[in-house]
Amino acid sequence: MSTLKIHNPATGQQIDERPADDAASVAAKAAAARAAQPAWAATALRERLAAIQRFRTGLVAELETLAATLTQEVGKPISQSRNEINGLLPRIDFFLAQTESAIADEAVFDDVGMSERIGHVPLGVVANISAWNYPYFVGCNVIVPALLTGNAVLYKPSEFATLSGLHITRLLHEAGVPEHVMQPLVGGGEIGGALLNQRIDGLFFTGSHATGVKIAQALAPRLVKLQLELGGKDPTYVRADADPKAAAESLADGAMYNTGQSCCSVERIYVHAAIHDAFVQHFVATVQGFKVGDPMAADTYIGAVTRAPQLAVLDAQVADAKAKGARLHMGGRRLPGPGNWYAPTVFTDVDHTMELMREESFGPVIGIQKVGSDNEAVALMNDTRYGLTAGVYTRDEAKARELLARVNAGSVYWNCCDRVSPRLPWSGHGDSGIGLTLSTHGIQTFTRPKAWHLRSP
Ligand code: NAD
Repeated sequence: MSTLKIHNPATGQQIDERPADDAASVAAKAAAARAAQPAWAATALRERLAAIQRFRTGLVAELETLAATLTQEVGKPISQSRNEINGLLPRIDFFLAQTESAIADEAVFDDVGMSERIGHVPLGVVANISAWNYPYFVGCNVIVPALLTGNAVLYKPSEFATLSGLHITRLLHEAGVPEHVMQPLVGGGEIGGALLNQRIDGLFFTGSHATGVKIAQALAPRLVKLQLELGGKDPTYVRADADPKAAAESLADGAMYNTGQSCCSVERIYVHAAIHDAFVQHFVATVQGFKVGDPMAADTYIGAVTRAPQLAVLDAQVADAKAKGARLHMGGRRLPGPGNWYAPTVFTDVDHTMELMREESFGPVIGIQKVGSDNEAVALMNDTRYGLTAGVYTRDEAKARELLARVNAGSVYWNCCDRVSPRLPWSGHGDSGIGLTLSTHGIQTFTRPKAWHLRSP
């Protein structure tokens, strides 16, 4: 049997090794999930809710161990690993509170013996291929509502977050979710590929645009329900009337939190010329205050880059920006290993000829571009193939609403950034994806509507 070796990106050292799946074990797990799903769907909702409530209790009880594992396998600073698991709790609470009403039968017509109802039935066997950057968030955005609505889940955590994926699975089993209803698949892209070959009723993917396209192509002939939560190049505009210091501090956090490896990291900043220089000064000072180092240290803010190949992407964006005349204020280079390290990097004098302003950096690198008007800022924000989030910092709420209404993005922010709410749908426009998670829509998405036409005799 082959194994998956797990390395700590902060040290380069192997920290674990786990038996990996192969095509035969993936097929066996898919068949077991298929067989187990009807009984799970027939289990009373209150029992499924109770199991997820116990899962929540398990997360709280083991929080320190789970956070340490997460930090060791993805290089995330320990305070941010704790934040992620703590941040999952209100998401679970939302799903626990909302599932019953979200999937209740709806009576939509009743007249002279004819009635019409909408039911919500589980999809069946749901596959989840997931990313490493927030394994608890992106995994559970799918797993928890899928299980609550009566589906079986085949869960392929990222090969860079396997231990956390296995913790999630173990805690669900300990909480009473039957083993065959919730099954992990261990391995890399080839195991994700093997999962696509199984008889599945929905594929919920979080990851890069390139992989998302491959998955969509592979599934197209089979008409499987498909959701893709992909990358972004998320812009923010700081208007002339904004407080440059407050905006800079907020956006430095939005750009650098999780070492810049969030799908909704701030990736492009446009600042009105009237406050550009003051903004840049505060921004650079804030980033200089972020401690880079051992992810297990309590005061570390910037940790390791999780995947070694991303360092070359960052190098290439930096070289391209420099060659085209951008001004480097700090960073712009790898830090010495072992492990994968990149210095927090801030550029100004950037423009849209540069890769830095066009393609996802997914690291601690940001470009700040000076603009002369609201219209110029909106045009630049929309000059992208992506559309995950976008923001405006201004004192003028009406202006913020007007500008954000013109921006093509799934989520828009006024005076905030890098924020996800369980109550709101999480979705991308354009190459940032199709479908959604979270909100009551993100519960119903794991069901299909069934139309009941009922005539009394
Ligand atoms: P990735 O595309 O490299 O991998 C994602 C998953 O796909 C992994 O589990 C991987 O093993 C699997 N995979 C790879 N090739 C496959 C194939 N051919 N068939 C099936 N599965 C395959 O992405 P990543 O590096 O894990 O994640 C980073 C990306 O995810 C970034 O672009 C980020 O913006 C995006 N992301 C988006 C959201 C969102 O909500 N929109 C959230 C988190 C991350």
